Amino acid sequence: MNTIEGYGYSEFFKNQAEKLNLSYDLVPARVIEVHREQYKIVTDRKLNDAKLKGSLFYNDQVESIYPVIGDFVLVKENPYGDDIIYHVLDRKSKFSRLDTFYKKEQIIAVNFDYVFIVTSLNQDFNLKRIERYLASAWQSGGSPVVILTKSDLCSDVSSYLDKIEKTTIGVPIFIVSARTGEGIDQLKAFIKPFDTIALLGSSGVGKSSLINAISGEEIMKVNSIREDDSKGRHTTTHRQLIKLNNGTMIIDTPGMRELGMWEAEEGLDTTFKDIEELMLRCRFTDCSHESEPGCAVKEALENGELSMERWDNYMKLKKEAKYAEQKENIDMRLKEKARGKNLSKLQKKIKKGR
Ligand code: GDP
Ligand code: ZN
Repeated sequence: MNTIEGYGYSEFFKNQAEKLNLSYDLVPARVIEVHREQYKIVTDRKLNDAKLKGSLFYNDQVESIYPVIGDFVLVKENPYGDDIIYHVLDRKSKFSRLDTFYKKEQIIAVNFDYVFIVTSLNQDFNLKRIERYLASAWQSGGSPVVILTKSDLCSDVSSYLDKIEKTTIGVPIFIVSARTGEGIDQLKAFIKPFDTIALLGSSGVGKSSLINAISGEEIMKVNSIREDDSKGRHTTTHRQLIKLNNGTMIIDTPGMRELGMWEAEEGLDTTFKDIEELMLRCRFTDCSHESEPGCAVKEALENGELSMERWDNYMKLKKEAKYAEQKENIDMRLKEKARGKNLSKLQKKIKKGR
C-alpha cells in the first residue's frame, strides 16, 4: 500500500497533473512533514527530503503557494540528495486560520477527507465549541465526525448525547475510551485506507491516546495531564502526517491544536469590547471621536473611565487592520496574475529540458 495512491493520490489530483502536462520526470509526492524550508515527502518509491525549486517559489513579485502538511506536489527525484518540489496541486480541503494581526490566511493542513472533532466527556465538553468546530469542519471541505472520548470517566453519556444531537444531525458520533477500549472497534471499522483524517480538539482530550488505541501501537506520545486544570501539554513541534498500519492517515499538528483555541482567537475581538460599546453611545453614529458633541469616548477619556493609553492602542490596531486589509486585496490580485505567469514559466523550463 506504499504507493502514492495509497497515500490518497486520487483522480482529483491525477487529473490536475495530467492537465498540467508538465514532464515525465516530475512525479507526484505527498508532503508528510514540514520543517521551515525542508520537507519530508513520500513518492511511489520512497520517503525522502525535499526542497522547493527556488526560482519558482522564491519569486520576489509574488507570494507563492507553499506546500503545507497533506499537500500533493510534483517533484523531480534526486537519487543523491533532496528531491526538488516544482508545483503544488490544488487542494480538495483545507484548514486555515486568520493571522489576526496581519489579517493573512495561514494554511495549516490540507487534503483530508474527514475532520474528527474530538472532545472528552468531562469538563472539556462545551457545546458552543463543538458547534464552532462543526462549522469550520463543514467549511474546510472535509466531513465532520464527532468523537466523544474518555467514556470511562462519564456515568451519564446519554445526557451529553441529548445536548449535541440537534447540532450534529447527519454527523456520525462515536463514544470511545482509550482506557477500556469501548468504541474503538467501531471506529476502526469506520476509518478506511486511502483516507486522511484531520484531528480537531483541545489539548488533553485524548487525541494521542485515541490514535494509539486505533493503531494498537505507541505512535503518539501521550502527555500526562496536570491534575489541577486538566490540561495536557504537548511537545510535538513539527507538523506531520502519520500513516496507520491499516492505511488510514492522520494529520495532527500543533497548528490544528491552536485552531482549537477559539477563546484565544476571540480574545482579540473581545479585548476592546468596552470601547466598542462606548462608541455605540456616541450621539452621532458616524462620530469620529474627535470633536463632536455628545461623544461617549471623549467623555470616558475625560472622566478616566477609559485610559488614553488603551484608546491609543485601539486606534493603532484599527489602523493596522485596515492597512493589512487593503494590502491583502492588492496582494491577492497580484498573486492570481503571477500564478499564471509562474505556470507558463514552469512549462517553458521543462520544454527546454531543464
Ligand atoms: P491529547 O492532548 O488530546 O493528545 O491527549 P492525550 O492522548 O495526550 O491524553 C491526555 C490525558 O488524558 C492523558 O493523561 C491520558 O492518559 C488521558 N486519557 C486519554 N484517553 C483517555 C481515556 O479514554 N480515559 C481516561 N480515563 N483517560 C484518558
Ligand atoms: Zn464619539
